[in-house]
Amino acid sequence: MKKIKNRAYFAMLIAFGLVFGLCVFAVRLYADGKDWTMLRANQSVYNDGVLDTGTVTDRNGVVLAHAENGVFSYADDETVRKSCFHAVGDFSGNVGTGAISVFSSKLAGYDFFNGVASVSGNGGKVKLSIDSSLNAVAYQALAGRRGAVLVSNYKTGEILCMVSTPAYDPNNPPDISNPAYEGVYMNRCLGATYTPGSVFKLVTLAAAIENIPDLYTRSFTCQGGVTIGSDFVKCTGTHGQQTIEQALANSCNSAFSEISQELGADTIYNYADKYGFLKSLSVSGIDTAAGSIDKGEAGTSNLSWMGIGQYNDLISPIAMLRFVSAIANDGVAKEPVILKNAHSSSNRLMATDTAQKIQELMSYNVAYAYGQGTFPNLKICAKTGTAELGDGTSNAWFVGFLDDAENPLAFTVIIERGGGGLANAGPVANAVLQAAVGNS
Ligand SMILES: [Zn+2]
Repeated sequence: MKKIKNRAYFAMLIAFGLVFGLCVFAVRLYADGKDWTMLRANQSVYNDGVLDTGTVTDRNGVVLAHAENGVFSYADDETVRKSCFHAVGDFSGNVGTGAISVFSSKLAGYDFFNGVASVSGNGGKVKLSIDSSLNAVAYQALAGRRGAVLVSNYKTGEILCMVSTPAYDPNNPPDISNPAYEGVYMNRCLGATYTPGSVFKLVTLAAAIENIPDLYTRSFTCQGGVTIGSDFVKCTGTHGQQTIEQALANSCNSAFSEISQELGADTIYNYADKYGFLKSLSVSGIDTAAGSIDKGEAGTSNLSWMGIGQYNDLISPIAMLRFVSAIANDGVAKEPVILKNAHSSSNRLMATDTAQKIQELMSYNVAYAYGQGTFPNLKICAKTGTAELGDGTSNAWFVGFLDDAENPLAFTVIIERGGGGLANAGPVANAVLQAAVGNS
């Protein structure tokens, strides 16, 4: 009897094993099936390793890339082709984060039950959230300089403008060994990290709002800089006595040195981490570059510079866009997406009170320091950054959002070695935002 019982258990064990294996296979087929189908060796989908079916459009239906029976085409307009080079990618697969590569299974018309539905048919359609006309405006405003421009709707998470330069016309590929095209395949919006300079003061400010009880009644003194240990932390001006509002608008290094020393490296680091600057994000399945920050030691100028956005701070443009979007949206980040009407999950980055206080200060920046006249008819709230790179050049940053229910737009502009943030990145932001709200 005991023997029979054992055999029965054994048979059941085998049965369980079979069922389990089947489940694993089903799950893997569901999860990886499209990858198996889309392996580049699968010649029914790819023609010599290149996707030969499908259409990519912008949010308004403008065709940005189309493939049919081995005939490939891109947008009709040359500036659109160049400005959408990284968002769309190319049929050679050089831009790994472009839509043609990332959404290849959708373009091939893959679905779970039928595999590839329409071999050498019209394939699938991918509608990006990008407005190609905004991309063209941003590309022209960059005027040959290297950098990244991002604009999103902070209520939906949709990215409306995503331009990375250098780029080129996919209809007319240049000799990319020319130094002008160094790193041309990288989408700097998602894949690059930069020294943030003073735009990082927004992170330090958020930490100060939540950790320094008398922040709003305190007076910050600037005598052109401040001595920390044996080093001098130089300021860009001599700002005298300031409130926190004035210190942010002046982008005063003396004030932010004082705040950084008081908060300490761990607190600043933890806020940067909490706000997503130190991890890779996913934009509609595209992994972005993680930023990094080294902690400056207590009582050293390194700690001051860490809180000012210098030292070894590095952040990605997309993480900055997500951060200013959360500030604009009362603390909740709608996760950036690149597909039109795609679901965007929500994550609270900071308390509503904190976000609203930063909104006020970023509005004050424009009124007090940047000049509303530079941004006609825009309800703009912003922060500049002029991030020194140690060789006499600096990255020009301009980040922020519109406090405008009809145009809930967040933006990030960076120009590599572009000089002062306000003077150089500011006009690029203005040009794109004016076009986005329909002023031009
Ligand atoms: Zn100062």
